[in-house]
Parts: sequence; C-alpha cells; structure tokens
Amino acid sequence: MITGPSGVGKGTLIRGLLERTPELELSVSATTRRPRPGEEDGIAYHFLTDAEFDRRVDAGDFVEHAIYSGNRYGTLRSELERRLAVGAPVVLEIEVEGARQVRAAMPAAIQVFIAPPSRDALRARLVGRGTDDPDQVDERMRTAERELGAQPEFGHVVVNDRLEAATDELARIVSGALGGEAG
Ligand code: ADP
Ligand code: 5GP
Repeated sequence: MITGPSGVGKGTLIRGLLERTPELELSVSATTRRPRPGEEDGIAYHFLTDAEFDRRVDAGDFVEHAIYSGNRYGTLRSELERRLAVGAPVVLEIEVEGARQVRAAMPAAIQVFIAPPSRDALRARLVGRGTDDPDQVDERMRTAERELGAQPEFGHVVVNDRLEAATDELARIVSGALGGEAG
C-alpha cells in the first residue's frame, strides 16, 4: 500500500509503477467526494452517496475506511478479493488512517510512505494540480502536517523529489518484496 499526504505525487508515482510492473493492479476505492472533471465512476473511484457508503460500512464491505477533508474514502473488500483470488498483487493508494487499518488487518502488506522534499514543494504541487480551491489546499496542508508525523510507522519512505528517481525507487521496493505478500 502506498500512503502519504495529498499532492505528494502518489497517483503520479503509481502510474509509473504500474507501467514498470504490469502484473500489479490498482484497487479502485469508494468515496463520497464529488467527481472532479474527467473522473469516471468505477475507474477513478466508485462514487457513492453518504447513505450508500453507510450501508456498505454496515454490511462489512470495507477493509478500511476513513474520513479525509470532510469526505469518506474506503477500500472495498471485493476490490481486493477479486484480484488476490487470481494471485494478482494489488496496490492501494490511501491516506494514513486507512493505511493504519490495513497494517493491522494485513501485517504482511508492503507499506510505503511517500514524502515531499519540503512543505513548500507539497503546497506548490497541490496548487499546481489545480483541483482544490485555496481553502481546500489549506485544509489538505493541515492534514499533511499530521500525516508527515506518521512516516516512521511505515516500512519504507520514498521522497518524491525527482519523479524519475522516486519511481525507480518505488519500483525497486515493490519488485524486491513481490514473491511475498503485496499490498
Ligand atoms: P497525490 O496522488 O499524492 O494526491 P498527484 O499524483 O495528484 O498527488 O500529484 C500532485 C501534483 O504534483 C500533480 O500535478 C503532479 O503532476 C505533481 N507531481 C508529482 N510528482 C512530482 C515531482 N516529483 N515533481 C514535481 N511535481 C510532481
Ligand atoms: P483525493 O480526494 O485527492 O482523491 O483523495 C484524498 C485522500 O484520500 C488521498 O490521500 C488519497 O490517498 C486518500 N484515499 C483514496 N482512496 C482511499 C481509500 O480507499 N481509503 C482511504 N483511507 N483513503 C483513500
């Protein structure tokens, strides 16, 4: 599983990782957040209403779930089971609270924390991505402060400074750990 603050480049790194390691599959999370332009249901996320999310929590459909910036996010058991049943290693891209739940439930999962080279670089990436208004950027930066403190909990930390070097490092960690359990 890959965690780290919003805007650090998790999605970008994972795209590079999937290109280099084609046997990996990305789990599509569920969220109550509104789709951003271009985000398709079932591909970017499974977009759920609050009521539907609640129903699926009660039904035990989630491996983990958490609230992030006022919206709910979670990993569906069905996303993992479908892939792990055919022996495909699965990549999860999740925030820190959910990563802790996965660590507790699946201690063998590979745990990678993606860190920014600096706070300023993280803010610049959030602003540069253009998907969050200034209030949301501030909120995500406040959350990032808490999340950055969790780095030592994770087995691997990759600093995403130069994208190419960070993608190489992530791919090396994952390919080194495959053969065991992936997540
Ligand atoms: P996350 O998935 O962690 O929220 P994204 O992958 O959406 O982050 O990346 C946030 C922004 O930062 C994007 O605009 C992306 O192009 C940019 N970015 C990612 N990695 C780097 C890097 N190493 N250097 C500079 N910009 C980067
Ligand atoms: P965004 O709104 O930018 O797509 O995602 C916000 C945060 O939620 C990111 O840190 C992202 O990694 C995290 N996230 C995405 N999917 C999940 C999930 O299934 N579970 C948890 N716990 N966090 C998730």
